[in-house]
Amino acid sequence: MNRLFASLGDTIFDVMSGLARETGAINLGQGFPEWDGPQDIREAAARAVIEGPNQYPPMRGTPQLRQAVAEHYARIQGVTLDWQSEVTVTSGATEALAAALLAVLNPGDEVVLFEPMYDSYLPMLQRAGATARFVRFSPPDWRIDPAALAAAFTPKTRAVVLNTPLNPSASLMPAEDLTLIAEQCVKHDCIAISDEVWEHCVFDGAGHISMLTAPGMRERTIKIGSAGKMFSMTGWKVGFACAAPALTHAFVRAHQYLTFTTPPNLQTAVAYGLAQPTQLFEAMRAKLSAHRDRLAAALRSEGFHVLPAAGTYFLAVDLAKSGIRLTDKDFAIRAVKEAGIATIPFSAFYNTPPDFNLVRLCFAKSDATLDAGAERMGKARRLMA
Ligand code: PMP
Repeated sequence: MNRLFASLGDTIFDVMSGLARETGAINLGQGFPEWDGPQDIREAAARAVIEGPNQYPPMRGTPQLRQAVAEHYARIQGVTLDWQSEVTVTSGATEALAAALLAVLNPGDEVVLFEPMYDSYLPMLQRAGATARFVRFSPPDWRIDPAALAAAFTPKTRAVVLNTPLNPSASLMPAEDLTLIAEQCVKHDCIAISDEVWEHCVFDGAGHISMLTAPGMRERTIKIGSAGKMFSMTGWKVGFACAAPALTHAFVRAHQYLTFTTPPNLQTAVAYGLAQPTQLFEAMRAKLSAHRDRLAAALRSEGFHVLPAAGTYFLAVDLAKSGIRLTDKDFAIRAVKEAGIATIPFSAFYNTPPDFNLVRLCFAKSDATLDAGAERMGKARRLMA
């Protein structure tokens, strides 16, 4: 077996979901909505299966979807992309991340990662033969320390992987922090792989800033998006990689041997969805932020210290500030077993455990699930505080 993959255990996500299934716990660990996406987009996918074509679409994605991606980002984010040379459709953002790392890295290269980080970044860059150097974010601000950032870059650095809005901290990277990363990328001739899958899930009137728009980064950024997150249908696994022509060329070479293509009916439906008026996305944000507020209020009334959540499907509670002196992992395991509530410990997103104890909860759930989940969190707190 490959040594890297053989050495990896089950992730905490599998462990928590497994325990939730076994114990019948309410699962606020899982990061997906308890509702389905817009009916007309689902109907567009169904129609496309019946009407066809159902054979291999072009390897870079259907022209219709690639054009829709370019038009969508021009309209919503003011980013101008040439759909033919700068947009590739992938089977989810996960595939786009793998293709980007494989396309950019050579053995011996270094990659700067920010903790907390999404779980695929580290194993996939290691599989490409690279090593990681970490920069840590901490609550409550989750901001970049410029000295730590500068220290992470070396003559071997080839790429940086960033995620904004950031899962699990639910924070947005401000323009100043994107600029700090951009300065280092330009100085060290590096590529930014910018995971922007949560770009539409931003609340309270905030806008998304793409790394593509940071100074000097238009030619150095692979921006990654996910239709699953945009349309509240995480199982759809349709992603987009947007990058300057030379980067796209390399990206496509890796993509062609990973999945080659993505189901044609989903591409048709996502193209339809991307062309919808801005109100569709505003309605999604309004719904999600109402659910965020409901869960936050219910947890506060159970005595929890809840951190602000500016984006994503998640909010965090600070265990120590809620009177619970356990590690995040110990709390999460005991909470699912003893109080029937599944959460995700933040340490799962760090290479070495952080010096704070937070757990992540998903608020993209029905009111009834959120209310019952908060009540069980209250029970967990009474057992452990
Ligand atoms: N990046 C981040 C930060 C995510 O949170 C997720 C999904 N949870 C992904 C990538 C994967 O997206 P997809 O389902 O489109 O592969």
